[in-house]
Amino acid sequence: MSVSNSALTLASSQYRQIAKAVNEERLINTATRLMSVHSPTGQCGEVADLLAELLSDEGFQVQRIEANHSAAPAVIVRHVGRNPGRCLQFEGHLDTVHLPFVPPAQVDGRLTGTGAADMKAGIAAAVEALRVIRELDLLTHGSVLLTAHDLHESPWGDGRQLNSMIEAGLHGDGVLIPEYFQDFLPIVGRGGLIWRVALHRAGENVHEVMRPNEPGVVLAASELIQRLSKWDREIGIARDPLAGPGSVFVGQIHAGELYNQFPTTATLEGTCRWLPGVTSASVEQRFSQILSALANEYSITGEVQFSPMRDAFRLDPNDDLTVAFQSVIMRDSGRNLTHGAKPFVDDGNAFWALAGIPAITHGPIAGGAHTLEEWVQIDSLVCVARRYACTAVQYCNL
Ligand SMILES: [Zn+2]
Repeated sequence: MSVSNSALTLASSQYRQIAKAVNEERLINTATRLMSVHSPTGQCGEVADLLAELLSDEGFQVQRIEANHSAAPAVIVRHVGRNPGRCLQFEGHLDTVHLPFVPPAQVDGRLTGTGAADMKAGIAAAVEALRVIRELDLLTHGSVLLTAHDLHESPWGDGRQLNSMIEAGLHGDGVLIPEYFQDFLPIVGRGGLIWRVALHRAGENVHEVMRPNEPGVVLAASELIQRLSKWDREIGIARDPLAGPGSVFVGQIHAGELYNQFPTTATLEGTCRWLPGVTSASVEQRFSQILSALANEYSITGEVQFSPMRDAFRLDPNDDLTVAFQSVIMRDSGRNLTHGAKPFVDDGNAFWALAGIPAITHGPIAGGAHTLEEWVQIDSLVCVARRYACTAVQYCNL
């Protein structure tokens, strides 16, 4: 089935009806309430309870699922249309990065505070879309699934809660994710992991004039950096036209306590990123091989820990979800979104990697994510709510 059939195109009257029904005040109120509860990654119990209560007070059937994280069961709402059909999922994470809490405020057409950009206000826009879909009884077919969860932000979370929901089959046929991003349509994204290496030599920290006749961990660390950058150059040969190459990046190195101490330990941290078609397992394996060869040559031990971010992803521009979404964007803005690469990893990657489900990241105009100065533009939240409701009509009423 293809949504290019003109009979399925969103009618102008329906578009106007949706635009009128999106209630800015109600949307801001929801965003502000969610942002009033501090919910650093791993500690979303209270805000998830609040969202669940807010939705059930409005008459939605709310389900809670632990999904590998009993401290904050995920919030799930399903709104079902009049006939069977496809399910469009609105998906968001309720957790915020571990920075001091900034309470919500409204300044010059913007909402500011923790979670304004990343991404409680985006979730509020999805909630508003769901309300409009129900109020206007828009779904002749299919359903809309709203999910909100914890454990998104690295390195405090590892995506475990959402992953287990996806693996249990709890997902839509297509997904919209209201992260702070709307300049273009991300159709490819690199996967990523954080690595942490510890190099140890036998013995104790000693004055450098007393050191044994061996290269030590600082030289070993420097050689490791050389070998990782050689690998980085090899990876760089294969480039995706939009996402560029995979990479191996070293961001931190620490060793010793004093300029003239011969230390026992050196630690290094960085990231690996890869293109669709490469697996995290193969990246981890290659990394471990490089490290163990080096450790043997330098007569030291090398330990590595990997913290997964997300796998790589690719979105089919001809998928029904993408086509439906682009037609909504065309109706709403008079243009199609151009294709691009997603600069960060987000939950869309998990849907593609674990279940082959198309997911589109499209959210409000916002900034300051992962800082103390988060903001989101209020009129763009209204726009996201409108676009999400319209996409449900385009995608589900098939
Ligand atoms: Zn986010």
